[in-house]
Formats: sequence, C-alpha cells, structure tokens
Amino acid sequence: MDKELVKNIDVYMSRLFPIHRSITGDGNRETLNILREIVDIKVKEYPTGKKVYDWVIPREWIIRDAWIKNSKGEKIVDYSKSNLHVVSYSEPVHKKISFVELKQKLCYLENLPDAIPYRTSYYHSNWGFCLSFNDYKSLLNENEEYEVFIDSELKDGSMTIGEVLIPGEMKKEVLISTYFCHPSLANDNLSGVLLTAFLAKAMKEMKLNYSYRIVFVPETIGAITYCSVNEDEMKAVDFGLVVATVGGPGKLGYKQSFDSSHFLNNIVEDVFDELGEEYKVYPFTPDGSDERQYSSPAFRINVVTISKDKYYDYNYYHTSLDDLNFISAENIAKTYECYMMLINKIDKNLTYKNIHPYCEVMLSKHNLYPKTGGALLPDMNNLSEVDIISWILFLSDGDHSLYDISKRIKVPIERLNEIAIILEEKNLLIRSN
Ligand code: ZN
Repeated sequence: MDKELVKNIDVYMSRLFPIHRSITGDGNRETLNILREIVDIKVKEYPTGKKVYDWVIPREWIIRDAWIKNSKGEKIVDYSKSNLHVVSYSEPVHKKISFVELKQKLCYLENLPDAIPYRTSYYHSNWGFCLSFNDYKSLLNENEEYEVFIDSELKDGSMTIGEVLIPGEMKKEVLISTYFCHPSLANDNLSGVLLTAFLAKAMKEMKLNYSYRIVFVPETIGAITYCSVNEDEMKAVDFGLVVATVGGPGKLGYKQSFDSSHFLNNIVEDVFDELGEEYKVYPFTPDGSDERQYSSPAFRINVVTISKDKYYDYNYYHTSLDDLNFISAENIAKTYECYMMLINKIDKNLTYKNIHPYCEVMLSKHNLYPKTGGALLPDMNNLSEVDIISWILFLSDGDHSLYDISKRIKVPIERLNEIAIILEEKNLLIRSN
C-alpha cells in the first residue's frame, strides 16, 4: 500500500470532515478549494432558478447557528457541536414551543440510540432538528416549554460543481462522478470525494487512451444540472464510474451497470479476482446515486460503483456514527487501488481492425517472430507470443475489443495491449474505437 497516499488522505480527511456541505453553499466552495490543492479542479456555478430538465436549481442555503433551549435556558441541542443537528435546508425560526409541537420537528433513531440521524428537506419548506434517541429521552420531557432557534437564510445564489477534464489520445470519454453534498459524514461521501481527487491527480500524470471527464457534483440536482448543461458531451460518453462510500471497514463490492453484460462489470470482477478479494455484487436498480441520472433513457451510460461498505448497506449510514472512527485512510487507499487497476484495464480496452483482413499476414515479412526464442510467460495461458499475435490479428475485425480477445484466449488485457501497440506500429492494425 502507498504509505504517502494514506498519509495524505488522512490529512485531508481531518480538514474536510468538519465542513458543513449541502447541495449549495459556501461549505461546498470551501471543499472544492481545498481539493484544488490536490488536483486542478475547474469550479462552475449555476444560478438559483435555472431550469434543468424536470427540476429547478434551488435557493442557496446559509446556516449560521441553531439550538434548542429548555425552560432553564440551557442549550440541549446545539448546532455548533454537530452540523447534523439541524435538518439541511431548514428555514429560519425563533419561537417558544410546546413539547408536543416540538416533537413533530425532531428526528431520532430508536434502533441506533447514540446516533444523530442526517436529514434534509431541500424541496419542501420546513425546519427541524436531529438528535440521538438517548438525548431525546434524557433531555426532553412532556411538560416543558422550549425555545427553538435556527439562524438560516435561503437566498438566490448558485450551485457549485467541480470538473476535471483529462484529454487522452482518443476523443471517446469515460465519466467519473462523485458527490460532495453531505455535511460531516465520512464514508458517505467524504471518502469518495477524496478518492476521486487523488485518482484525478494520478491520472493527470498518466498517458491515457480514453479521455476522462471527472465531476464533483451535489448528488441528484448536481448530476441533473451537469447532464443538462453538457447534454451533447454526456450523450457521447462511453461508460462511467460513480465513486461512493469507499472507506468503510466492511467488504468491497460493486453495483452493476444497467446492462450487466457490459464489459465494465466483468472487468471490475477481474480486478477483485486479481487482488484475491471477496466481494459483494449489487445488481442495478434505478435508485442509489447519480448512475440513475447518467443511465436514464436519453444518456444510457453504463456506470458501475465500487464501494467499501456501500451506502444503504451499513448500519451507520446517514448518521453521526459515519464519522472518522468508522472509516480509515487505509480503507480508502485499498479501494483506490481497485479503481486504479480498473482504470488501467479499461483504458487498454481498445478495438482494432486488421489492415490486412484478406487471409493471414506473413508474419516473417513484418519481422514478427520474436527473437527471444518465444519464451512463455506465466500469465500467457501457455500461448507463445506468435500465438497471441495470430489471435489478435484474427479477431481484430472492428467488432472484438482487446477485452473480448482477452476473455477468449485467457490472457490479460495488459499483455494484449502491449502486443497490439507493436502491431499498430508495424501498420498491421488500426484503431477502430
Ligand atoms: Zn447519502
């Protein structure tokens, strides 16, 4: 494991965790600004009221303070102790209130009595508080009157999105998307945001075949906005990844793309197998994260998500227990390794056409008999280099990708890619994707 990476992730985790993010606001701008120390992210703003397909970008939410005081004037719920205490997008309020009335504005979890739940009310005017069930039981009683205060503001402003475009040799694009709209929650999805930033940094140093479109969006409304303002580009995207919940202590797993036969799903499984990792498979459903926007009928982008403790699946999901004790930089680095291997493989999945498709090529004329004496490398399935050259030339008809050939002859795509580059240089193959 890359120790330097673990150390860096650790530092940024601590810096970014306390920031109060939402679907809009300065917390998001601050987050992107800090991430820009890792990789150059282009920051874009989209105004309140902008229509994006069936949605409208909401007002910007500003939160300064929030508390509940008991009749003695003691703060029993205090936003300055946890930004999860206030329901995101709460309207301002300041009044005395009976227990019965207050109870309707409180969220807690009886089955997880230590945890403060995370709740939002983006598109429905409301206000509310979240607290642990233990605090609810010990700090509140029916016969008391309370004072509630939320110092918030909803105003016309804008929504912030971050973008990194990495051009490759081909125009064809792969989308990598992550969401950064959650307040102080660690696995969901500070882990994914950090992994994506470090991935983008590493990819910028690589020589890539595909072009990559990497985006940091507020979940749902941000992804919808991004699709709406980049419609043509998004329609042309080949396939994609949504990076979510990657730092938990549990098992690795992946959510399949809507077409489970798409090669992306197989490559993810190859990565896990190569690492010797047990993994969970989550079939596609039209809920979850932003794959549901990217895979919608107009775009139909196949998108997979590799997670470590996937959202919905772990107990602490959307609660204050999803904190820096729950995740670790090592876990994020481990999932990072999976994504890195995945990108290395997908980036090599080129499709070629044999320039001489009429009968077979005369290999000796092109100096293709290896001078090494045809040593059999352990991962070449007992095939010699000449065998592999023959297979590649035979199957490269524009329909079979290197990955298809790799599955057919059970030789890693990395090897096929090395050989295909030689054949390309000798003018025997031409790229067709
Ligand atoms: Zn979430």
